[in-house]
Amino acid sequence: MVLFKKKRDVLLKKIKWCLGCGNYSILYQLSKVLEDLKEKKERTIIVSGIGCSSRLPYFIKLNSIHSIHGRAFSIATGIILSNPKLNVWVITGDGDSFSIGLNHLLHTIRRNINIKILIVNNGVYALTKGQYSKTYYNSNNNNSFNIISLMLSAGATFIARTLDSNPIHIRKILKKANNHKGTSCIEIIQNCPIFNNIKDKINNILYLKNKYPLVYSKKKGIILIKNIPKIINYKNNKNIWIHNETDIYKSYILSNFFYINKNLPIPFGIFFRVKSKNKNKIKYKKQHQKLSCIFHKNFII
Ligand code: SF4
Ligand SMILES: [Mg+2]
Repeated sequence: MVLFKKKRDVLLKKIKWCLGCGNYSILYQLSKVLEDLKEKKERTIIVSGIGCSSRLPYFIKLNSIHSIHGRAFSIATGIILSNPKLNVWVITGDGDSFSIGLNHLLHTIRRNINIKILIVNNGVYALTKGQYSKTYYNSNNNNSFNIISLMLSAGATFIARTLDSNPIHIRKILKKANNHKGTSCIEIIQNCPIFNNIKDKINNILYLKNKYPLVYSKKKGIILIKNIPKIINYKNNKNIWIHNETDIYKSYILSNFFYINKNLPIPFGIFFRVKSKNKNKIKYKKQHQKLSCIFHKNFII
């Protein structure tokens, strides 16, 4: 089963993305992950909003909905509530999810609906010719949204960040997100060579690995002194910060690295992940049934 449409389609310009766009990599990695899952094709559904990345459902051979601006989360919620056995993925851009769709996104996360949300972040409204968006990372810009921190505050149970140019990392994160029960939020930093070429800007990367020390660039590491992260020489330092995916306080600090000190590396990987407790599962089940009834009443009948 090949989900990804053929190379010929790219050459014939059936895929309407600019050459060199990071969305190609995201499409390809997602296709590969969905193939590897060996889930029945008819059980998977992709919902998107509006924007360059939201065109992705056209280029994948799966049931999908190219929905309306900022409302993909609500449509995905309706789908999963009417049939909880489906594997529902949302593809959205930074404009779609953190401008017009922000309230829908936060309430989906709060409800911990069992869907996967891929937020393709290129820092610009690319479809409308490249105005800077609220998620634009720049050392001169101090008022951009800290989206990881915002989603943590909304009660996210799975939060990760990955990069379009690292296919192995994207696949790993997508597979882990797929195994998570609840809302999985994944920020994918995407290069838009036309309006925001970030290829050379993102070089100070710290890959997070659960139960492993925070080290990067071979020699450097991070320690916490009175809750302030500091860069140190990794060798012979026993106080190095060990990453713990279940520690929400440290996840907040990690999500704020760029905002605390611009010299700190940008963390990639899973910031926070927590399993639903049995008690919550029952609560979730009840809430699920209740919402499912409302959905059926209002939209199906
Ligand atoms: S404008 Fe940017 S994001 Fe949109 S298709 Fe072109 S390169 Fe990709
Ligand atoms: Mg964008």
